[in-house]
Amino acid sequence: MNRIIYLDNAATTRLNPKVLDSMLPYLKESYGNPSSIHFLGRENKKAIDKAREQVAKSLNAQFNEIFFTGGGSESDNWAIKGVAFANESKGKHIITTNIEHHAVLHTCKYLEKYGFEITYLPVKSNGIIDIEDLKKAIREDTILISVMFANNEIGTIQPIKEIGEIAREKGIYFHTDAVQAIGHIPIDVKELNIDLLSLSAHKFNGPKGVGVLYIKSGVNILSMIHGGGQERGKRAGTENVAGIVGLGEAIEIATKDIEKKSKYLITLRDRTIKELINRIPDTILNGDPKKRLPGNINVCFKYIEGESILLMLDMKGLAASSGSACTSGSLKPSHVLLAIGLPHEIAHGSLRLTLSEETTDKDMEYLLEVLPPIVENLRKMSPLIKNK
Ligand SMILES: *Cc1c(COP(=O)(O)O)cnc(C)c1O
Repeated sequence: MNRIIYLDNAATTRLNPKVLDSMLPYLKESYGNPSSIHFLGRENKKAIDKAREQVAKSLNAQFNEIFFTGGGSESDNWAIKGVAFANESKGKHIITTNIEHHAVLHTCKYLEKYGFEITYLPVKSNGIIDIEDLKKAIREDTILISVMFANNEIGTIQPIKEIGEIAREKGIYFHTDAVQAIGHIPIDVKELNIDLLSLSAHKFNGPKGVGVLYIKSGVNILSMIHGGGQERGKRAGTENVAGIVGLGEAIEIATKDIEKKSKYLITLRDRTIKELINRIPDTILNGDPKKRLPGNINVCFKYIEGESILLMLDMKGLAASSGSACTSGSLKPSHVLLAIGLPHEIAHGSLRLTLSEETTDKDMEYLLEVLPPIVENLRKMSPLIKNK
């Protein structure tokens, strides 16, 4: 085994070599501070402006609506806390879902300590919210709706356009965590009525530690980092120039030819799902069969532990995931799998395979060859199987 077959693209993606090339000058000769007046400073300022333009264009946003951050978690924190504390005189009620990323869920939990009331909408067994539940949850004092675009574990895509329309009609801010969606689903913030949107570069073949918060102009939000005047006074600190340049380059590449890329991935995904279910008895597909990210496969194999499958796959050169990277290592099953109604013992046996355009038919053939005997062997040792 000399090559790793990487099927963990929801955790992070490979840095695109073209993106790396775009970054290198800002890690080497062009080391100026973007706030400096001299040539090296101006050159860096220009590079950031170019990246801001690239992001704005990809989302159909305005140049001055794009703010660079330290990643997806920071963007989620800023959006939710920033809107909550800036608008608390209007109300202290926020609506989100119980399948959000922890960057959203734990931020909401934190706000509860400050008197905010949070409604965590449930999802149906396919992992999608019921729009009627959302309508019913809206109150006089609701100031923010935060619903993720696509889920990082089961890949389900939420009805973003409908949520945006409802939020607009009621005059409530709408934030969406689009970290997993960008590059896979076309996103037009104007058409979708989105007020705030979070992105993270390392999920679309950019560098780690840099992200975006789109803030529609006119949205009332607090600054999160106080200091210098960077990011129009809203996010202080000398910019991560190389990271920002890489993000700009990466988003331009990622949002090109989405249709063609997703067609390829959907074919590969659906064929693999079908074969997994054919070849391995007691396999359950988690999430919606159609309204899911093109590269996302999430299945449960009854009677066994996801972690054991991962170790076996790892020995065969296959990198995959079970639950989300943040929850693995703990024995608690994923909150997303519990939210779609799986019992604990089944939720433990989950496997997430997230493909990229670099994933080939041959990679999937290899997976389909090695996985069935792994599952069979683990089941032989499983105490749960006796209760079948
Ligand atoms: C990865 C991820 C984040 C966090 O992004 P970081 O840049 O790693 O902080 C937030 N939300 C979703 C849906 C993610 O997949």
